[in-house]
Amino acid sequence: MSTTFLHPFSAPTKDDFVRIVRGEGALIWDDRGTEYVDAMSALWFANLGYGRREVVEAIAAQAGQLHAYHCFDPFTNGPADDLAARIAGLAPVDDARVFFTGSGSEAVDTAIKLTRAAHQLAGQPHRQIVVSRSSGYHGTNLGGTSAQGIPLNQAGWGDLAPHFVSVPGDDIEAMSVLFAERGDEIAAVISEPVQGAGGVLPPPDGYWPALRRLCDDHGAHLIADEVICGFGRLGTWFGIERYGVRPDLITFAKAVTSGYVPLGGVVVGAAVRGPLEAAPDHVLRTGYTYSGHATACAAAAACLDVTESDGLLARSDEAGARLGAGLAALVEDGLYAGVRGEGFVWALATHDDQPPAEVRNRALAGGVVIRPLVGALAFCPPLVTTDAQIDRIVDTAAAAARA
Ligand code: PLP
Repeated sequence: MSTTFLHPFSAPTKDDFVRIVRGEGALIWDDRGTEYVDAMSALWFANLGYGRREVVEAIAAQAGQLHAYHCFDPFTNGPADDLAARIAGLAPVDDARVFFTGSGSEAVDTAIKLTRAAHQLAGQPHRQIVVSRSSGYHGTNLGGTSAQGIPLNQAGWGDLAPHFVSVPGDDIEAMSVLFAERGDEIAAVISEPVQGAGGVLPPPDGYWPALRRLCDDHGAHLIADEVICGFGRLGTWFGIERYGVRPDLITFAKAVTSGYVPLGGVVVGAAVRGPLEAAPDHVLRTGYTYSGHATACAAAAACLDVTESDGLLARSDEAGARLGAGLAALVEDGLYAGVRGEGFVWALATHDDQPPAEVRNRALAGGVVIRPLVGALAFCPPLVTTDAQIDRIVDTAAAAARA
C-alpha cells in the first residue's frame, strides 16, 4: 500500500517513511521521539540548523506585513531589492545583479536560458551548447536533467533537451579538446565547485583556473552551480572563492534560506548583463510567480545575518577539519575504503561489500542521518553542529560500517 503523497526520489510503491516532526540546532526528532543528529542538513540545505528564532521571526514579520507580491513589471518589493544588493555584494562576480527563483532547479534552467540569451543578443546565436561534467548534479527540471552528469537521473524521461555535452568530470584535457573542436558553439560550462550529489568530489588541482581560461579564450560563459557549496559550506560565502575563480553566472538555493522557506537565484555578471541590457526595449521574458518572494527574501536576509553574527564561515572550516579527520581515521582502521571532501562536506567511499543504503539504515538506527550515494556516504552537517555532535557522527559511522 502506497501513500497518497507521491514522494520525490523514492519508489512509488514505498509506504514506510520516517516522519520528522521537530528540530533544534543540528538535531531532529521523528514522531516516535527518536533523536537524530542530522549529518546531512536535511538535503544539503539546513546550514543554520533548526529552530533559529531570528529566521522564524523575520518570516512572521514579513508575512504579516506583505507575504508576497509578484515582481513582474512594474512591481518590486523591499526585501527582494535589498537581498539582491546584498548577495551581489558578497558574490565573486563582477558588476553582479541577482535574478530570483524558487529552487535550485529553476536557478539552473534560468542560468542556461540567460547564457543563451546573452549570446543571441550579442549576435552569436550559434552558441547554444552547455557543457557539464560527469557526476555533476544540476537539478531535475528539463535543462538541469539534460545538463547533469548522473546517467541514472537522465534515463527514462524520453528525449532530453538538445545541445548539452558532458565531459569526464576530472579531465581538463577532455574539456580542452572539446573547446578546440567546438569552442565557437559553446555557450557556457556549468559545474559545481565541489560536486555534491554525484559523490562529494572536490576538483582536481588547478581545474577551475584552467576552466576559466578555456572559457575566456573561447568566448564562453562559466556557470558555478553553488546550490550546495554557497553560503558557507566551503568556509566562504561562495564555494568558488576557494579556487580563486570569478564565474559569469552563479546559481544558488538551499542554504540561502537554510530551507526555512524555498528560495533560489542566479547571480548575473557583466558578461551576461551587457547583452541583456544593451537594447533599452529588450524584455527578459522569463521568470517565476515567486521570483523575488518577499517572505523568502526576508528569511534569506535573516540567514545572512545569523551566518555573520555566529561566525559560521570560520566555524564551517573548523568543524569540517574535525569531521574530515574523524572520517579519515575510520579509513585508516579499514572500516571504509576512502575519504574525500572539502570545507564541511565529506564522503566516505564504501567497500564493495558495504551497500551504502544498508550502512545508512544502520546509522539511522544509531541516531545519525547520513546519505547514501553511488559507492559512498555523504556527510554535510549544519554549520552549527557542535564538536560533540561531530564526534557522535563519526562514532556512529564507525559502528554502522559492518552489519
Ligand atoms: N544544483 C545542485 C548543485 C544541487 O545540488 C541541486 C539540488 O540538490 C540542484 C541544483 C537542484 O536544486 P533543487 O532541488 O532546489 O531544485
